[in-house]
Amino acid sequence: MNAEIIAVGTELLLGQIVNSNAQFISRELAELGVHVYYHTVVGDNPKRLEKAISIAEERADLIIFTGGLGPTKDDLTKEVIAAHTGKQLVEDAIAMENIVSYFKKTGRKMSENNKKQALVLEDASVLPNEHGMAPGMFVKKDNQFYMLLPGPPHEMQPMLRKYGASAILDQLESRERIESRVLRYFGIGESQLEAEIEDLIDAQTNPTIAPLAGDNEVTIRITARDRSEEKAIQMIDQMERKINDRVGEFFYGYDQTTIMKELLTILDKNDLTIAAAESLTGGMFQSEMTGVTGVSTMLIGGVVCYSNQSKIKLCQVKAETIEKHGVVSEQCAIELAENIRTILGTNIGISFTGVAGPDSLEGHPAGTVWIGISFDDRPTKTYHLNLSGSRIGNQKRTVKYGCYYLL
Ligand code: ATP
Ligand code: MG
Repeated sequence: MNAEIIAVGTELLLGQIVNSNAQFISRELAELGVHVYYHTVVGDNPKRLEKAISIAEERADLIIFTGGLGPTKDDLTKEVIAAHTGKQLVEDAIAMENIVSYFKKTGRKMSENNKKQALVLEDASVLPNEHGMAPGMFVKKDNQFYMLLPGPPHEMQPMLRKYGASAILDQLESRERIESRVLRYFGIGESQLEAEIEDLIDAQTNPTIAPLAGDNEVTIRITARDRSEEKAIQMIDQMERKINDRVGEFFYGYDQTTIMKELLTILDKNDLTIAAAESLTGGMFQSEMTGVTGVSTMLIGGVVCYSNQSKIKLCQVKAETIEKHGVVSEQCAIELAENIRTILGTNIGISFTGVAGPDSLEGHPAGTVWIGISFDDRPTKTYHLNLSGSRIGNQKRTVKYGCYYLL
C-alpha cells in the first residue's frame, strides 16, 4: 500500500504554521510499512482541494487528509470528499454524544455549526476524537482508501496512533515489516568508516545503510523491510556481518548503548573492580561511570589528582618521576594507574594525565594525553593520544578512549 498526505489549510500556504502533521503521519506510516510517495498542501478552497484529490487518486492507494474538519465555514474537507466520492454525510450518534457532552462539561452553548461536526461520510469507520470534537474517518470507495484526520496535532496524533493505525493494518493483507538496528563505532572517523564500506553504501536498496556521526562516535543504521519479520532480521544480520568484517575492530555496541555501559557490563560479567586516578579528566570518568545504575560493585573509587602535590600525596607518584618526566608522561600515567589500583585493592587501575588545553603544558601541546591501565599483575599498558578539540571536548573524548581501551 502506498499513500499520499494532503494537508488542508490556507495558513500552511501562507507560512503561518509548519506542516508538522505531514511529518508525524509519514513517520507513523513508515512504521506500519506504508510507503508515502507524496505530500501535498492545499488551501481551504473547494475547487483546488477537489483537484488535489483527483491527482492523488491517480498515484496513491490511501489518501490521508489532515485539517478542515472543524465547525467553521472554511472547514470543508469532508464536504468536498463527500461531493467527490458521491457519498452522503450522515449524523453519527456517538460523535454527536461526544459533542453534546463536551458542551455540557465546558458550560458553553452549542451552535448549529457544531452539529455539523457530527456528520460523517456514509460507510466510514469513525475514528473517535478523545481530545476534541471532530471525529476522524476511514472510508473506502472501490480500491481507494481515504482517511480524514483533524488539523490540531494534539487531536490528530493520538487518533492516528490509537484508531487510524489499526484501521490501516486491517486493510493490509500482508503487512511489510520494517526492522532496524543501530551499530555503534568508536575510534574511527565518519569519512574513514564511509570509505571502508563505500561499495556497500552505493549498492544499498534493502537493507539500507545510513551512517551518522556525532558525539565523537559514528553510528550506522541498518534498515530492512520484508513481509516476514524473521527474514528482515536475517537481512540485517547479514549486512552487519559484511560491515563488521571491515570495521569490526571499532564496533562496540548496539542501539541505545554507550561505551561506558558496555564497559560496565563487561566488568560485571567478569566480577572485576576498578579505581581511577584522574588528572586531565578531573573526575569526569568516575562521574560518568556513577551515572549508570548498579555500578557500586564495580567502581571502588578514585581521586582527582589535578596538582603535582595531589599526585604525590594521594597517588604516591614519586617526586622524581615528575621532576624527570613531567606529569604529561607515560611514566606518570603508569605510576598513577598502578598506585591507585594497589591503594584501593582493585583489579583495574586507570589513569588520565595530559594537557586538556587550551594552553600547552611542559612543552606539550593541548590535547596530549596519556592513559594508563594497570590490570592485576599484568604489565601496565599505556596509550598516547593527540587530540585537537576544545578543553571539554578533549576531556570527554579522553573518557571515551579510556572506556574503549578497557573493553
Ligand atoms: P478545528 O476544529 O480546530 O477547526 P480542523 O480539523 O478544522 O480543526 P484546521 O482548522 O485546518 O483543522 O486547523 C486547526 C489548527 O490545527 C491550525 O490552526 C493549526 O494550529 C493546526 N494544524 C492544522 N493543520 C496542520 C498541519 N498540517 N500541521 C500542523 N498543524 C496543523
Ligand atoms: Mg478548522
